[in-house]
Amino acid sequence: METMNNSKQHAALLCSPGMGHLIPILELAKQLVAHQNFTVTIFVVSSQTSHAESQLLNSTPTNPQLWHVVQLPPPDISGLVDPDDAVVTILAMMMREVRHAFRSALLGMEVCPTMLIVDLFGTESLPVAEELGISKFVYVPSNAWFLSLMVYCPVLDVEVKGDFVHQKEPIQIPGCRSILPHLDLVDTLSVRAHKEYLDFVEIISSGVSKGDAILVNIWEDLEPKTLAALRDEKLLGRYTKVPVYPIGPLIRPTESSGSRGKVFDWLDKQPNESVIYLSLGSGGTLPYEQMTEMAWGLELSKQRFVWVIRKPTQTADGAFFTGGSGNGGDEDSPSKYLPKGFLERTKDVGLVIPLWAPQVDILAHPSVGGFLSHCGWNSTLESISNGVPMIAWPLYAEQRMNSTLLTEEFGVAVRSKIPPWKKVVEREEIEEMVRKIMGEKEGFAMRDRVRKLKTRGAKALEKGGSSYNALSQFAKHGELRCMKFADGRK
Ligand code: UDP
Repeated sequence: METMNNSKQHAALLCSPGMGHLIPILELAKQLVAHQNFTVTIFVVSSQTSHAESQLLNSTPTNPQLWHVVQLPPPDISGLVDPDDAVVTILAMMMREVRHAFRSALLGMEVCPTMLIVDLFGTESLPVAEELGISKFVYVPSNAWFLSLMVYCPVLDVEVKGDFVHQKEPIQIPGCRSILPHLDLVDTLSVRAHKEYLDFVEIISSGVSKGDAILVNIWEDLEPKTLAALRDEKLLGRYTKVPVYPIGPLIRPTESSGSRGKVFDWLDKQPNESVIYLSLGSGGTLPYEQMTEMAWGLELSKQRFVWVIRKPTQTADGAFFTGGSGNGGDEDSPSKYLPKGFLERTKDVGLVIPLWAPQVDILAHPSVGGFLSHCGWNSTLESISNGVPMIAWPLYAEQRMNSTLLTEEFGVAVRSKIPPWKKVVEREEIEEMVRKIMGEKEGFAMRDRVRKLKTRGAKALEKGGSSYNALSQFAKHGELRCMKFADGRK
């Protein structure tokens, strides 16, 4: 292995399975190459079940001089997890079991990296950076409020008595917005006896401060109070221990080829900001009863729509649909599970797209004026960066916190009175929310606010902007470290 020429740093990035993880890692790598004179190697633990993921990997341009993607085969964890274990448990186990393969791949690199960046499921691989004597970082492709929960979770684990979900009082995090157990709590943390609770506390939350710094996908003035708390020794800084760099909003760019095809031909014919786009991320699905109410709510609202739809689940909550795309067979056809006559009655005002759609390009289209989203952080940033107000429809994970940020802190979204993961939201309420963001006074005010956020986010990324500067500061960590192997090899 050779050391790098001093003028250029080489970052190794480790990405856990899933589009929601892959997209922000790829975008971070692009920023490092484009603005910080880095070369990068991205190690992706592929799920090998997601068509969208393979497509993204195959379409990612390779330039061996600047960047290189290495796919690590998913380890066999069949004997270690149960098929119905939570996604967090499965991902944590996969990333634990892939450590040896990753270590060998890293040690086998022709060029010695100057730093290692892992996402929040990859923190158990940080020790290999110590072995190499290089700096190490954790990238949290989410917001500062969620980061504050991760940082403070080991303390809450000791201090809170009983299950988090049964707490009567808000859960306090020093200097930050408190967490309402019935509304905001990350589902993984609900019940201590569940396997995923331990995985969250012992791997994800305990690992986040084990690097030399934390990167987070927001910009400085989006959550100033929470960032200040994370850096304040008297507040959360005591537990964060390392610098926090807000380097976002990093989102997937629009593609010129993505703007062709049926959906764009249709959008081109619609008036400006007249279409609501509905999608629940790479894995979200609705229970059958909720899907029926959603269809009726949309129809009653009389608004134009593009709806990305997947086969409903049998369970009451919005479950995670593992593939991100089905097999395209007849049972996947929306006519099999939408209300009778819906497709025919709405054919002039709406499009239903099974399984997967080019989301960033749709959100960037001038005809799109609203987004019903599960509030995954990538989708949230994509909506903000395109100035599109939202209906927050959280399902699982930190989406519940994101939904509160969007509605209560940023004022750019509406949400149902009772969260959709608790109870079926009825058609009248859906109709009302759709009308509100698409046409009413409250919706116009939200549109105004989201446009301001869009401008602030874009400014942060420009040369001299806060995120641009934060990434430059972060890059200096790598420069300061010795680039030799701990065992003296060069
Ligand atoms: N996405 C897409 N088309 C779809 C569904 C999702 O392009 O039909 C993309 C979306 O643009 C986002 C990512 O997949 O970049 C989903 O990430 P997010 O964090 O929003 O949610 P997750 O899938 O991790 O729950």
